[in-house]
Amino acid sequence: MKTFFTAQLLEWNHQHNSRTMPWKGIKDPYHIWLSEIILQQTRVEQGLPYYERFITTYPTIQDLAAAPDEAVFRLWQGLGYYARCKNMLAAARQVVQTYEGRFPDTYEHIQSLKGIGPYTAAAIASFAFNSHHAVLDGNVFRVLSRYFGIDTPVDSTAGKKEFAALAQELLPAGQSAVYNQSIMDFGAGMCKPQQPLCHQCPLAGKCVAHRQQIVALLPVKSKKLVIRKRYFYYIVLDYKGQVFIRKRTGNDIWQNLHEFILLETPAPMTAQELQASPGFEALLQKVSYTVQGISPAFKQQLTHQTIHSQFLLLSAAKKPAIADYMAVPTKQLDNYAFPKTITDFLENKSLGLF
Ligand code: SF4
Repeated sequence: MKTFFTAQLLEWNHQHNSRTMPWKGIKDPYHIWLSEIILQQTRVEQGLPYYERFITTYPTIQDLAAAPDEAVFRLWQGLGYYARCKNMLAAARQVVQTYEGRFPDTYEHIQSLKGIGPYTAAAIASFAFNSHHAVLDGNVFRVLSRYFGIDTPVDSTAGKKEFAALAQELLPAGQSAVYNQSIMDFGAGMCKPQQPLCHQCPLAGKCVAHRQQIVALLPVKSKKLVIRKRYFYYIVLDYKGQVFIRKRTGNDIWQNLHEFILLETPAPMTAQELQASPGFEALLQKVSYTVQGISPAFKQQLTHQTIHSQFLLLSAAKKPAIADYMAVPTKQLDNYAFPKTITDFLENKSLGLF
């Protein structure tokens, strides 16, 4: 059953796999690494232009390592999950400092780089150096759990161990690059999360889930995703063409990005309720202002949270001083990197805000 699986998968890849991606088949570890980092938690169509922009702007890892943080963050803008960008920059500098600018070529050394876990290390080691390491991503978990009928939760320690051992066992000697690519493409195109193409699947004859009609039940996850709702009100306080922003320092996905004066509330509020809230008064103590308008609501869906944001536009009569925030000319906002919602707001010219 295992030999059949590997052989059929390689055959399918050879005969039918039409999935094309610009980084497919390349051997440059820097390019592979960039594509893998960009594609974490990002769809291929969304990540593709970023990948192209990065390799054009920074053709070598030395170029990336030498780039100013702010420039790299700006290029990343819109992809979200900025910890990835921060780690990417740190890893590029690690390669330059520790490995004299040469991307490491062993799984262990690759995994020692900032932001690289077992999956990414296996992908780079196998795609760039054909080393014998099986990749294990969502596609691989799904294909293996269905074909072999494994119901151990994929997010449990036992599950990760079991699937990792099986994936490694299935890896054909000397063909890890092509095999790893095949199983990921197969998961993405054939054994899809919803409506897999079982009727055309070359593995269907031996696939346990298909034979037992339990395809929709696999893979199993032990933890249910709890999605938290958050309400962000950005106060865009203008004084003679300047607005107040700050750099976020908290250790979250927006770390090092900039934002307007932010008030987070436990529930949605009207502009009036917001202005009467204690948090608002604490932020804008003694500021004399007039309300210019409030934007429509923006919604951003993240893995574990839904962010609802609105922008309240105020105009100050006298130059205010807001602790931790700096006044920046609105014409220079382009020089700062912002979270996706603020970028969407700034780019939405139809709001006629600036
Ligand atoms: S038969 Fe269906 S469930 Fe089984 S491996 Fe093929 S596509 Fe996936």
